[in-house]
Amino acid sequence: MSLVDGLLDGDKRAVAKLISLIEDGDEAALEAISDIYPRTGNAHVIGVSGPPGTGKSTLIFRLAREFRDRGHKVGIIAVDPTSPISGGALLGDRIRMGELTRDEGVFIRSMATRGRLGGVSAATSDAINVLDAFGSDVVFVETAGAGQTDVEVSALVHTTLVVLMPGVGDEVQTLKAGLFEVAHIFVVNKADVDNADRVASDLRMMLELGEFDEPIEWAPPVLMSAALNGEGVQEVADSLENHLAFLRESGGMEDRRRQRAKKEFMIAISEAVLERARDLSSRRTFEGYLEKVLEKQMSPREAAIRLLEESS
Ligand code: GDP
Repeated sequence: MSLVDGLLDGDKRAVAKLISLIEDGDEAALEAISDIYPRTGNAHVIGVSGPPGTGKSTLIFRLAREFRDRGHKVGIIAVDPTSPISGGALLGDRIRMGELTRDEGVFIRSMATRGRLGGVSAATSDAINVLDAFGSDVVFVETAGAGQTDVEVSALVHTTLVVLMPGVGDEVQTLKAGLFEVAHIFVVNKADVDNADRVASDLRMMLELGEFDEPIEWAPPVLMSAALNGEGVQEVADSLENHLAFLRESGGMEDRRRQRAKKEFMIAISEAVLERARDLSSRRTFEGYLEKVLEKQMSPREAAIRLLEESS
C-alpha cells in the first residue's frame, strides 16, 4: 500500500514516514503532498503559543484527551525542541504522553524549530496538511517563545491560543510585541499558583483598553486553567469550539482559509527561490554576483533579481 493510501486508511506509521520524507526534502514527499492536498481543509488547526514553561504541552495533552472524549481525532505538532512533546519531558509528562501515543486517534510529532530562512518551514505547513488529510478533526501546533515563529504560525492556523502563567515577571507586557494582537483565546494556566487571578484581570483590562482599527466581532476570552490536574480544560475546549463556530457563522472562515493558503504559498515560494539560488551557487553564478555586491557594483537586491532571472 502506498504511503498516501496508508495515510488515508488511518495508518499512523504511514503518517510518520511521510513526515520524515517531508523533513528530508524527498521528491516522493512532494508528490504525496500534491496527492493529499485536495483532501485537506477539514481540520480545525489551533496554534498554541506562549513563553516556555507556562504549561502549553501539559494543556495540549489534556485538551487532546478532552477532544478524544468528544469523539475527535487529534494531531499534535510541536515546533519547539525544548517541548516535552519532543523529549524534554518530566516523568509524569511522559506517562501522560504515553497514553496518547498508544491511541490510534492521536498523532504526535515534533519538528525542527525553523526553516532555512529562519521562519516557519514548509515542512511544518506540509505536516499540518498531512495530519489534516489523515482525518484529524483538531490539529494543535505548539510553538514556544514570544518570537517571530509564534506570530508566523498564527497565519497558518484558524485559532491562536496564548498560554500564560503567573510569576514570570511582566508577561502581559511582553506579549504586547506581536502575540497579543493575534490571540483569539488567552489561558492563564497554573491557576493553582498565587497571583493567577491578577494576571487574568490585568489581561482583561488590557483587552478592554485595547484600541482596535475595526470593530471587533470576536472578543478574546481570558480563561484560567490548572492543566496539571485538568481544571478548566473543558472550558478551554469549549472556547476553541466556540471560536470555530464563530468563524463558520461570521464568514471569517473564508478569510482564514485565504490567509492560510497565502502563508503556505509564501513559505513555499521562499524555500523554492532559496533552493534555486543554491543550485546556481554550484555553477559559481552566486559567487559572481556576490563579488559584484562586495565591490559595490550592484546592490544586493539587484543582484538577487538578476540571479533569479538568470535561472528562469
Ligand atoms: P511548556 O514549556 O509551556 O510546554 O510547559 P510544560 O507543559 O512543559 O509545563 C512546564 C512545567 O509546569 C511542568 O513541570 C509542568 O508539570 C508544570 N505545570 C503545567 N501545568 C501546571 C499547572 O496547572 N499547575 C502547576 N502548578 N504546574 C503546572
